[in-house]
Amino acid sequence: MLKPEIYRRQRNGAWRAKTESCLCILVTGGAGFIGSHLCDRLVRRGHHVICIDNLCTGSLDNVRALKRHPRFRFLKHDVRKPLDIAEPVHEIYNLACPASPRHYQRDPVGTLQTCVMGALNVLDLARRKSARVLQASTSEVYGDPELHPQAEDYVGHVNPVGPRACYDEGKRAAETLFFDYRRIHGVPIKVSRIFNTYGPRMLENDGRVVSNFVVQALRNEPLTIYGNGEQTRSFCYIDDLIFGLELLMATGDQVAGPCNLGNPHEVTIGQIADLIVELTGSTSPITYQPLPQDDPKRRRPAIERAVRVLGWCPRVSLENGLKATIRYFTLKLFGQESPSIAPISYHPMPWERKRTKPATSNGLVTLVPSRD
Ligand code: NAD
Ligand code: UDP
Repeated sequence: MLKPEIYRRQRNGAWRAKTESCLCILVTGGAGFIGSHLCDRLVRRGHHVICIDNLCTGSLDNVRALKRHPRFRFLKHDVRKPLDIAEPVHEIYNLACPASPRHYQRDPVGTLQTCVMGALNVLDLARRKSARVLQASTSEVYGDPELHPQAEDYVGHVNPVGPRACYDEGKRAAETLFFDYRRIHGVPIKVSRIFNTYGPRMLENDGRVVSNFVVQALRNEPLTIYGNGEQTRSFCYIDDLIFGLELLMATGDQVAGPCNLGNPHEVTIGQIADLIVELTGSTSPITYQPLPQDDPKRRRPAIERAVRVLGWCPRVSLENGLKATIRYFTLKLFGQESPSIAPISYHPMPWERKRTKPATSNGLVTLVPSRD
């Protein structure tokens, strides 16, 4: 069986896989928005991928192109139940959890169970398989933050009894479990705190702002701003996020995180509505609806840790990411049922690059030794 320490740095600073063999990687929530892009990327890199999903918010359409691939396997399973996988597993990405407020509030008890029991079950599997395990945590652990931007050492401002608590507190408890399994059982964990991510394969009806606005604009229906539109978010394009997750997984065992992954380019909800109307050439008017309870007023990731530890920073501009998302939804709404998509930004892994370059004009920084 392969050892969990998969990559090592060479003297010249470049990264190299310790073994030529491909890995067996399990992705829970792999049929969802982020999970399906991750499965695509991992299969493309030559790994075996087992995708586990109960399809509550994900869809087999998202992994349709992979389903006949010899290195891809889909298992319909709920992570609230124990996981039993016969083959060796080297890495686990735990993404299973509804992510949009509309979906995670539909069955709040189920959401909390998925966060907590799902985390326990993947951690137990990681322990049995000596696998490294990455948790998809969230900027919601900061709640409605009093500190801006949000860095990893900020402990947050979460309302434990509000409608978002099933998700926020569930994800916080999951982080606790991850760090306790590391302390008690020595499981090599990675905790990523993902900020608002968007792109192709978001569900057109999941209620998140980018998908809502793009679909409304393409249909020339009113864009629904909640509140006065002055609340902010910072949107990261899916390709950038996937690369950040891969890099975090590839760090040495001393790196556990938590590590923010997001795009620090902060915009108001009013600004993104205007931009989407402009990019779609829509005639949609803007309408205003009540702001949901506990809706965070400001959100922007401090990504210094990701830059320092992973050598990662987002590269896709909001405008280019939105154009790709709009293309996807245009096909989905008016053309094909499951449009095929290609990444707009391919990121070679550090050990795939010919040589490591110093900081460049596109903002990509040199890789530095993995220290948290
Ligand atoms: P998504 O809803 O598209 O994907 C979640 C996937 O998990 C779906 O395929 C769903 O069917 C599956 N799932 C849910 N509960 C499950 C269960 N009990 N057992 C098995 N499968 C289950 O959401 P997403 O945007 O792809 O988010 C993926 C992960 O990233 C989530 O854990 C989410 O909390 C986290 N995250 C996402 C964002 C974002 O902006 N998209 C931000 C922060 C964190
Ligand atoms: N939002 C909005 N109109 C919509 C959907 C969302 O104004 O149709 C707002 C929402 O109130 C929040 C922001 O957009 O302030 C981001 O919402 P989303 O659900 O995408 O993400 P989250 O609140 O989880 O960051």
